[in-house]
Amino acid sequence: MSHFYHKKSLGQNFLNNKKILEKISKIKNLRNEYVVEIGPGKGSLTEFLLKEKPRVLTVIEKDKKLKPFLEKIKIKHPKNFNLIFEDALNLDFSTLTNKKIILVSNLPYNIATTLIINWIKNYENFKSLVLMVQKEVAQRLYAKTGTKFYGRTSVLTQANASVKEKIEVGADNFFPKPKVTSAVIEIIPTPRKFDYESLDKVLKTCFLHRRKILKNNLKNLNSETEGKIRECGISLSSRPQDLNPTDYIKLSKILLS
Ligand code: SAM
Repeated sequence: MSHFYHKKSLGQNFLNNKKILEKISKIKNLRNEYVVEIGPGKGSLTEFLLKEKPRVLTVIEKDKKLKPFLEKIKIKHPKNFNLIFEDALNLDFSTLTNKKIILVSNLPYNIATTLIINWIKNYENFKSLVLMVQKEVAQRLYAKTGTKFYGRTSVLTQANASVKEKIEVGADNFFPKPKVTSAVIEIIPTPRKFDYESLDKVLKTCFLHRRKILKNNLKNLNSETEGKIRECGISLSSRPQDLNPTDYIKLSKILLS
């Protein structure tokens, strides 16, 4: 096998601590489940996922240079292992199966937030998402209202799912060693009773100017913005970080429907 050069542009920091790999594979019971792994790399997590006996494990990898490593795994598991070389940013999960998926991934950090927001938007494809991300990204996803990490991604995540940190992982457990600490989180989607696009429009408008008060941020969204904000029982002078996800859902319904 030719020598493999890690590509920073693809976030190729491979996790090499077997105990942590095994722990990740056991966060959810994968037996008989439809499991997808994004970015298998050389397959170190993949091997642990297969030990849990999923019905099917599909792995999506962008870097074709990893083919020789992953094809070795395919030879050992011809029946329940699918290997797809594709960009996860373009993947439509409904083309893989019509069953709900458990997604497990040590995500490429440069595109982690974009991927997570895409998946949350299309939440109906997933039973659960077990994801290793940069600790700071995890903190944004579960940030409480009013704290410094609280923002658009916190509200979108918490309005559509429950999110919990499961394991903190130090940089020494990876090769090459990243500059940051990581965390494994679990995201479990919850049923949606609001229009996603309206909520996101309100959030983008509000969090573009975190220091501005609500009535100024939202004045162009509706001709009766001030009255409508009052109707929601929300103070006109609140700042974006003061509103919880339920407040934002109320605002999006009253201003944009
Ligand atoms: N799963 C391995 C592990 O745990 O050590 C590797 C994880 S590494 C942090 C991220 C992996 O995602 C790399 O294998 C990288 O090539 C792959 N990757 C990066 N961008 C991708 C994309 N857009 N679509 C699919 N895979 C991607």
